[in-house]
Amino acid sequence: MKRDFTLETYRLLLDAVLAGKYAVQTTAGFLQKPEDRVVILRHDVDKRPGNALRTARIEKELGLRATYYFRAVKQSFNEPVINRIVELGHELGYHYEDLTLTRGDKKKAIENFSLNLERLRSLAPVKTICMHGSPVSRWDNRKLWEEYDYRDFDIIGEPYYDLDFNEVLYLTDTGRRWNGFEVSVRDRVDSAYKIDAKTTADVIGCLYRGEFSDRVMINTHPQRWDNALLPWAGELVMQNLKNIVKRIIVKSGNRVNV
Ligand SMILES: [Zn+2]
Repeated sequence: MKRDFTLETYRLLLDAVLAGKYAVQTTAGFLQKPEDRVVILRHDVDKRPGNALRTARIEKELGLRATYYFRAVKQSFNEPVINRIVELGHELGYHYEDLTLTRGDKKKAIENFSLNLERLRSLAPVKTICMHGSPVSRWDNRKLWEEYDYRDFDIIGEPYYDLDFNEVLYLTDTGRRWNGFEVSVRDRVDSAYKIDAKTTADVIGCLYRGEFSDRVMINTHPQRWDNALLPWAGELVMQNLKNIVKRIIVKSGNRVNV
C-alpha cells in the first residue's frame, strides 16, 4: 500500500491549493472578510500536538496561516506547542467538548467552557471555536448552544453554525479518507456537494483540474499526518477499527443524541 497522510503529501496538497489560485484564510479571517476564491485551512488537534507543529511549520514556509483548534485535555493542550504555533503566525481556536466532559450537565459545561476558553486566551486571542465530536460519546457538544450563546463569550463563529456548507465545500480527513462522510458520525455537514476524492492524491488532482468550488474548507487532524512509520501505522490500525465501529453506529441509526 502506498502511504498517504505524510508531511510530504500535506505539502503537495498546499502546493495544489496555491496552484489552484486559491487565497488561504483562517476561520476568523474568512468570517470577517471572505475572499471570493479561498481555502480555509483548519486543523482539529485531537491529540499528538507535536504533529500540529510540523504542519504549522510547513504552512509558515509557504507563507500561509491556518486555524489550530486545541482541546482542553492533556492529549491536546500543550502550552509550549501552542505558543510556538502562535509565534509562527497561526490562529488559535478552541476545540470544545465541555458537554461531554461534564456528562451532559449544561450549567457545569458552560462554566467549564468559560474557564477553558480563558486558559487558551491566556496564550493568544481566540475568536472561533469548533466542537470535538467523539463518535462514541453520548453527548453532542453543540447542544450547549441550545441554551447558551457563544457570542456572549466574544466568539465570532463556530464553523458548524456560521459557515454555509452549501456554499463552502467541506473536505475533512476524518476516517482517513477525504470522502469519509459515510463513516463519520459527528464530523459531517449538510452539503450539496458530493466529493469524488478518497485519497489526498485525488484531492490534489481535483485542485489542479479546478474541479472544486470557489470556496473550500480543508480540515485535517494533524495526528494522522506523520512521516515516522510506527505512529503512522498505529494511527492506521486505530482508524480502521474506528471506521468499523462507526459504520455499525451509522448503519444501526443509533446516532445517540445527534
Ligand atoms: Zn476533534
